[in-house]
Amino acid sequence: MSIFDIDAYIDALPSHRLREPTNPPAQYQVSRWPLLKPYAGFSGIERRRGGQLAGWLQAAGCIAKPSRCDICRSRDRVGYHSASYYHVGRYPALCRPCHFAAHRRFYEWDQWKRIIDAAAVTGREWFALASRHRIDIAQHLRNLWGWQAANIERSPISPLPDAIVVMLPDNMLPHPKLSLADDGQPFAGF
Ligand SMILES: [Zn+2]
Repeated sequence: MSIFDIDAYIDALPSHRLREPTNPPAQYQVSRWPLLKPYAGFSGIERRRGGQLAGWLQAAGCIAKPSRCDICRSRDRVGYHSASYYHVGRYPALCRPCHFAAHRRFYEWDQWKRIIDAAAVTGREWFALASRHRIDIAQHLRNLWGWQAANIERSPISPLPDAIVVMLPDNMLPHPKLSLADDGQPFAGF
């Protein structure tokens, strides 16, 4: 059995330079949609929180709106994809079909393989390194960082610049494992 190298995969993710906010929204967007199912070990709550922060960073002007798909270079309906919901600003940009194929790759590997084989040059691109089977990226990161890995507004893994942190709203969907820390109490862990 081959062992998937999660750290190499994360290292290969794009790293966006985060600019100072020019137009910071006062609140994170609140969605009425049901939470998504877990992905790569990240819970529905963590995926919602990651989406709130990514959406805020875009609206605030900290990261540019994605224009081209990282894989096929299409400009059609390009959006950010979260490969690790604990890594702020490490968002690949994907067009709708490539995004769909990325999430479906566990069931439809051949379809995904066609897409990446047509696009990979070095084979070290993040998408060429994406796992064929489900892996628990979240647990791997918590083994390294504890539950603070989930504290994306004060991330120990990919820290936000202070100029951004001071502007962040206070209405992010609460994380059940981080509620103690929010009260100013020492984080107890679970
Ligand atoms: Zn694409």
